[in-house]
Amino acid sequence: MICNNIGIENGHLTFAGRDVCSLAKEYGTPLYIMDEEKIREKISIYRKALKEYFDEAQVLYASKACSFKKMYEILSAEGSGFDVVSSGEIFTALKAGISLENVYFHSNNKTDADIEFAIDNKMGYFVVDNVEEVDAIEKIAGEKGVKQKILLRLTPGIDPHTYEAVNTGKVDSKFGTAIETGQAKEIVGHTLKCENIELMGFHCHIGSQVFDSDTFLRGSEIMLDFIKEMKDVYGFEAKQLDLGGGYGVPYTDADPSIDIKENIKTVSIFIKEKCNALGINVPKILMEPGRSIVADAGMTLYTCGTVKKITGYKNYVSIDGGMTDNPRFALYGSKYTVINAGKAEEEKTFKASVVGRCCESGDIIQEDVMLPETERGDIIAVCTTGAYNYSMASNYNRICRPAILMLAKDKEYIAVKRESLEDIVRNDI
Ligand SMILES: *Cc1c(COP(=O)(O)O)cnc(C)c1O
Repeated sequence: MICNNIGIENGHLTFAGRDVCSLAKEYGTPLYIMDEEKIREKISIYRKALKEYFDEAQVLYASKACSFKKMYEILSAEGSGFDVVSSGEIFTALKAGISLENVYFHSNNKTDADIEFAIDNKMGYFVVDNVEEVDAIEKIAGEKGVKQKILLRLTPGIDPHTYEAVNTGKVDSKFGTAIETGQAKEIVGHTLKCENIELMGFHCHIGSQVFDSDTFLRGSEIMLDFIKEMKDVYGFEAKQLDLGGGYGVPYTDADPSIDIKENIKTVSIFIKEKCNALGINVPKILMEPGRSIVADAGMTLYTCGTVKKITGYKNYVSIDGGMTDNPRFALYGSKYTVINAGKAEEEKTFKASVVGRCCESGDIIQEDVMLPETERGDIIAVCTTGAYNYSMASNYNRICRPAILMLAKDKEYIAVKRESLEDIVRNDI
């Protein structure tokens, strides 16, 4: 199995020690289920490794992977800080009782209203994307009598060979300010002149689904060289260096997996040696994992409806959800492991595409999956859906979003309620 929280008992698929067919029966489908212990375990791996290998470091959970109140509560109790990218994520964190001192506000286009909202709520740091945003923050912070701490987001110009759609570290990315073009150096000079901004350091995020430490080493090298250059040019020495997120997660048995602790160790050795060679202090290191904290802590359960066999062509298994709860195949052709949960040990002789219920032929969960003979009423499980599923869900076709059932050590609870038809018309007049 692709993760150690998945198993088979009495022919049924289990997740976090529970029979998923029983969960589907009790709570209804479609249903997101999440393994609270797995979330705690994953964030602890980062927290402990960063503590062991650096003098000063902090893990920040990238909220965009999966954001709801309980998630902030669980991760904050495990010592995590947070990345947020919108007023909505900030509001959710606040509603969960999180103070924002260890929160970093990202986004390539923060509106003035976002900036005001964040400053009013004592945002710890802004991760500033571009020079216009520096000016907007300088102005608003000045009006509010605040000296705002920021990092500057820079693009180190690396192609990590992941999917184009999730590739963000290249020089022509929409994110950040490029080092290669000289614009990064200019923005630092500009920021250092701002009275209402305290520049704390730099940020880079190279991409997603990265499996090799080499990519992080190349990123660190470019960023540390830049820190040294800024020290020489402006006498400014960065106190913080944020290396972004992007550690990969296996979605199928064909994917590699990564030893996060070993990776952080490798990166730390490199960073310490490099700082030593450059004659700069080791900055506080930040990492912002999203996917690798929550992806394999999640699974989606569906009920099979129509099974269509187009003789001589193709078979379709239609499920009671689809791109509304998981748009990732439609967006990037993402791979998933799909299992007929009640027939987990039966021989897989039936090839079918698993599709959703939306009026859109791109509404596909996975193409050409091998399943046992599957029929209406079977429970279909899609594994590794904890990241970028609920957070990307929509109400297309006015379909209600599923509930999130949290499976804790000795209890289970609804962390996000299933949307009702009344919710669907709540804002209509
Ligand atoms: C998306 C993102 C992350 C998290 O990436 P994962 O691949 O989910 O770990 C971290 N930092 C930034 C700036 C991001 O955009």
